[in-house]
Amino acid sequence: MSLARKRFVIIGGGPGGTSCATHAARLGADVTLIEKDIVGGAAHLLDCIPSKAMIATGGAMAEMKRATEMGLAQVDVTLDFKTLRERIEEIEDGLEASVTRLLASQRVQMLEGTGKMLDPNTVEVALNSGGTQTLQADIIVLSTGTRPRIPDWAPVDGQRVLTTRHAYPPPELPEHLIVVGSGVTGVEFVHMFKSFGSDVTLIVSRRQVLPDRDPDAAAILEQSFLDQGVNLFIGARAESIEVNADDVRVICDDGRVATGSHALFAIGSVPNSEDLGMDAAGVEHEWGYVKVDHNNRSNIPNIYAAGDLSGKLPLSSVASSQGRKIAEHALGVHSNRPHRHIDYDKAASAIFTDPEIAEVGLAEAEAFSDGRKIRVTKVPFSTSAKAFINNDIRGFVKIVSDPNTGVVLGGSIVGRHAAELISVIALAVTAHLTVTDLVESLFVHPALAETVGEAAV
Ligand SMILES: Cc1cc2nc3c(=O)[nH]c(=O)nc-3n(C[C@H](O)[C@H](O)[C@H](O)COP(=O)(O)OP(=O)(O)OC[C@H]3O[C@@H](n4cnc5c(N)ncnc54)[C@H](O)[C@@H]3O)c2cc1C
Repeated sequence: MSLARKRFVIIGGGPGGTSCATHAARLGADVTLIEKDIVGGAAHLLDCIPSKAMIATGGAMAEMKRATEMGLAQVDVTLDFKTLRERIEEIEDGLEASVTRLLASQRVQMLEGTGKMLDPNTVEVALNSGGTQTLQADIIVLSTGTRPRIPDWAPVDGQRVLTTRHAYPPPELPEHLIVVGSGVTGVEFVHMFKSFGSDVTLIVSRRQVLPDRDPDAAAILEQSFLDQGVNLFIGARAESIEVNADDVRVICDDGRVATGSHALFAIGSVPNSEDLGMDAAGVEHEWGYVKVDHNNRSNIPNIYAAGDLSGKLPLSSVASSQGRKIAEHALGVHSNRPHRHIDYDKAASAIFTDPEIAEVGLAEAEAFSDGRKIRVTKVPFSTSAKAFINNDIRGFVKIVSDPNTGVVLGGSIVGRHAAELISVIALAVTAHLTVTDLVESLFVHPALAETVGEAAV
């Protein structure tokens, strides 16, 4: 069969599904994309993007409040909830329209409906407009993403007991929000609502916020939360909840009770796969996630999984990369040479708090627990002229390298624009650059990136 005639059916139009669709179509495949809700992806357009847009609004408010320190007269700032809601809707609509245009420009056929496999080559779509349509496929890509996990004791109503999906923005600004879960999503919501002026209590089941992250970075964030007046319940596991006429109470296993006006659960996610027909198609799965190999292929040779459903690193950037790689693998072409599999250990990630936290590659703690010899260098932003100009000298740049070869293995950055700055270290990690390469790069002065070069010395 020629490339042009290979029929791709992709179920789920998030970053995993849409990047696979556009790339496969560009390479000559005949592509149909099935999406039941919003093209661009539920998690992407309903979580990732609006959460960052709200954090940007909170950040602008914090900037204005600090303006007097920069030599401006006192500025009064209040949150306009209606405008914020409109702004979020505009961003979502704009992005959905641009993804739809891109798909149409590549002649991807779009079907609005819910897809499920009947066998390894047949997909049935329950159309949103009514009725069903059956499609034959040479290649099936499953990219249906995840949804927030809700404990069975939590009466989530979208009004006073929320998941992250109800919070963009919620029906009203919480007077006092209790956030359950202190991973990446939980701390971003703490930061967001604190910057809007809500009181916030964070329930932290482990000994520190961000338990899986660089302890130096987590310590700075924890201190920043304390400075802002966030109540931290460290080492407390939420067990039950009481929703009363006047308040919401979250009861913890150590007897402590957090009392607020609203509660928000940010305790992970579950895969959207129960009705995908995985058993009918013979696809192996674990906890609802498709078991895939390094090409993102399932045990059934013509069925792949992209994005969060593949059970790999749940990031938009990773989902898009997987989608592209799947298109190439299924069509037997590689646009970049030499061809490389995705190295999840080299994916950069960021936490959009104040200060921002970003990491890539080998972490100091990980190397320590593996008994691996590394060189760690760290420079605080308090040595940076640009940080003084920005009126924000918090944080640091840390670089992990090989003590023998000088090759950069990883790094973490805490501070303003950390999510942008980490790209320099990410490139170094992917391209096997050495600390000397970083030291000898002539960065702009004054710029925060100079600290990356200094941390490599
Ligand atoms: C609060 C929050 C913040 C985040 N922030 C970031 C961030 O800053 N940076 C980052 O890189 N990642 C972030 N992520 C993670 C990121 O959103 C996900 O990794 C990404 O969206 C995964 O893409 P996907 O294609 O797998 O799935 P999704 O984006 O979830 O898309 C799946 C799509 O499939 C559709 N679908 C489901 N079932 C069916 C069916 N049977 N038929 C048809 N369609 C179906 C859904 O409607 C949905 O549109 C965040 C996640 C959350 C929860």
